[in-house]
Amino acid sequence: MAVQSAQSVVVVGAGIGGLATAIRLAVAGCRVTMVEAGAAPGGKMRVTQTAAGPVDAGPTVLTMREVFDGLFAVAGERLDTHLRLIPQAVLARHFWSDGTRLDLTGTRDTDAAAIAAAMGPRAGAAYAAFHDHAGRLLAAFDGPMMQSAAPQMAELAAVALRQPSLWRALLPGTSLGSDLLWRLPDARLRQLFGRYSTYVGGTPGLSPAVLALIWRAEARGVWAVEGGMHRLAQALAALALRLGVDIRYDTRALVVQTDRGRISGVALGGASRDVVPARAVVFNGDPAALRAGLLGVGVAQALRPAATEPRSLSARVWTFAARAHGADLALHNLFFADSAADEFGPLDRGRVPQAPTIYLHAQDRAQGAAPDGPERFQLILNAPARAPGAAPETPEERDQCARTTFARLARFGLTFDPVPSSQALTTPGDFARLFPASRGALYGRSPHGLLASLHRPTARTAVPGLYLAGGGAHPGAGVPMAALSGKFAAQAVLRDLGSTGR
Ligand SMILES: Cc1cc2nc3c(=O)[nH]c(=O)nc-3n(C[C@H](O)[C@H](O)[C@H](O)COP(=O)(O)OP(=O)(O)OC[C@H]3O[C@@H](n4cnc5c(N)ncnc54)[C@H](O)[C@@H]3O)c2cc1C
Repeated sequence: MAVQSAQSVVVVGAGIGGLATAIRLAVAGCRVTMVEAGAAPGGKMRVTQTAAGPVDAGPTVLTMREVFDGLFAVAGERLDTHLRLIPQAVLARHFWSDGTRLDLTGTRDTDAAAIAAAMGPRAGAAYAAFHDHAGRLLAAFDGPMMQSAAPQMAELAAVALRQPSLWRALLPGTSLGSDLLWRLPDARLRQLFGRYSTYVGGTPGLSPAVLALIWRAEARGVWAVEGGMHRLAQALAALALRLGVDIRYDTRALVVQTDRGRISGVALGGASRDVVPARAVVFNGDPAALRAGLLGVGVAQALRPAATEPRSLSARVWTFAARAHGADLALHNLFFADSAADEFGPLDRGRVPQAPTIYLHAQDRAQGAAPDGPERFQLILNAPARAPGAAPETPEERDQCARTTFARLARFGLTFDPVPSSQALTTPGDFARLFPASRGALYGRSPHGLLASLHRPTARTAVPGLYLAGGGAHPGAGVPMAALSGKFAAQAVLRDLGSTGR
């Protein structure tokens, strides 16, 4: 699509959804200004500094690379020219405190054999059936749900009605947790596959069973980005610049201005205090910021309350460099809680688990071998979003998190030298500060409940000319999905601005 004459669009936020939108709009001939409150592109795809170099402090698991190949292709370029993606033979290494260790590869029969060897033949056979079931879910819902700009209940129901084998998973009252209880006899496997609900910020007991499809999206391939995931954001920002997008860092959008109910411009903070006129604005921050009035009263009613509440999960995230001793680590590792209830019981009640599952990303092991000397790590522990108005975590709470995390890993034999200080921790309160109005929730609205995904806001809002892209908009949770939401936002903008086919 190409707009007839250059139209001014402001994209607020240089997260993945914002970058994907800006690239597509610039390709279509729009004049795009992108304003980002932070000093660098990427949003949650951020880094912190360590003695061993910058370490990824956000996403680490890159799936659905075709979404990014497609984004570069839209601009007539190839992703491979700018980034080296390293496919991972082992998707993740899983450790349980009873000594079980399991590598998953995404290949059905290889994984079924590994599970049978580790947990018995019944578990292996049940896994194979689960893998097939998750594949049917992905095939059924990829089109009408993930790839649809505005999923419709009637269309989803029609897909479901055509496939009786899916009915069980779609019954009201069936959660991912209860469905897995029926499908997988081994509690360790239920813990493993139940965890996929956390990829969109939910717990297995409260999230819909259809989220099992996330496993198959991951099984199709996991890549590491050479140099770290944040390079993806840098490469997208560089592509946007080449396409003529005017990117302004350290610049906060203060007010989205309206004139007679239509978008007219964006007033900026920072040194310039500019007002950028715009026919359309795409907001890539947490949609809750609009409702909270952080972008001005004129757009505070752009979304319904159910579009942003309740909140998805947050996390406690450690990023540091150290020497690791005592565990044979892969790139992605999981050290499971003693039981799923130890982790998800407290999370379901809005509490911080005392003995949670710990995800460990060993960033420097993308090619297998561990580097000599200190290496870079990210640890993620699920946590609830902050309650409205909650104060930041106290130093004692941070110290408590340090004790819990490193004592728990020591039970698996894993120790670090030096042991990171609590300075290396990002808490839900810190995320709440970094991403205004989010309360630390990392995926926008909670996925809990059968119809949760239909409550998520789509690209268009109630204010003509104001659009959404990103993790809090459909289907935005996760990096490829945030990029897809940018595609939907760009399509909606172009359609509404009166674009014509090229
Ligand atoms: C610790 C962690 C681990 C994760 N792991 C994975 C993973 O392994 N795989 C995966 O796929 N996903 C993962 N995710 C989720 C993934 O990072 C997000 O879904 C995705 O990056 C969200 O992108 P976004 O487009 O919503 O933008 P965001 O990253 O939310 O960025 C929004 C941007 O908007 C800016 N902004 C907001 N308001 C304003 C304003 N008023 N003016 C100017 N700028 C503004 C912000 O500064 C920010 O830069 C993880 C997230 C976290 C935090």
